[in-house]
Amino acid sequence: MKREELMVAAIKNGTVIDHIPSSKLFQVVRLLHLEDIRHSSIMVGYNLQSSKMGHKSIIKVSDKYFTDTELNMLSVVAPNVTLCIIRDYEVVEKKCVALPETLTGIVKCANPKCITNNEPMATRFKVTDAEHGVLQCQYCEKEQRVEDVRLV
Ligand SMILES: [Zn+2]
Repeated sequence: MKREELMVAAIKNGTVIDHIPSSKLFQVVRLLHLEDIRHSSIMVGYNLQSSKMGHKSIIKVSDKYFTDTELNMLSVVAPNVTLCIIRDYEVVEKKCVALPETLTGIVKCANPKCITNNEPMATRFKVTDAEHGVLQCQYCEKEQRVEDVRLV
């Protein structure tokens, strides 16, 4: 095992979210609602040395497997994360995240006049160009790029 992996203890069963840009760590925590998890232990490694990225962050959640829908939300803030599904200390599956077709209640609309910025309601975006990361508001039709989005 590589030294960088040893900096955060191994988990027996659960999910490892690796290669998170350190500046995005807390957004990832929010998107997965980790603050609401009561029955799992969560280990976070912040700003670890990474040969690939310089510095990265990593989250390990014991006894928790996320749905693809939950994981794909991460693509909005951290498109290059790697996900490892762990069972009995072994990596049984590796996944990447992909932009979902729609994003509900995740991203703010960039149009200040949009109804979603003026009424208490969930935003809704359609991914019109997944390759280039273009989203379109379903209410006012304003387009924005995924790298510019602000989270709700
Ligand atoms: Zn809008």
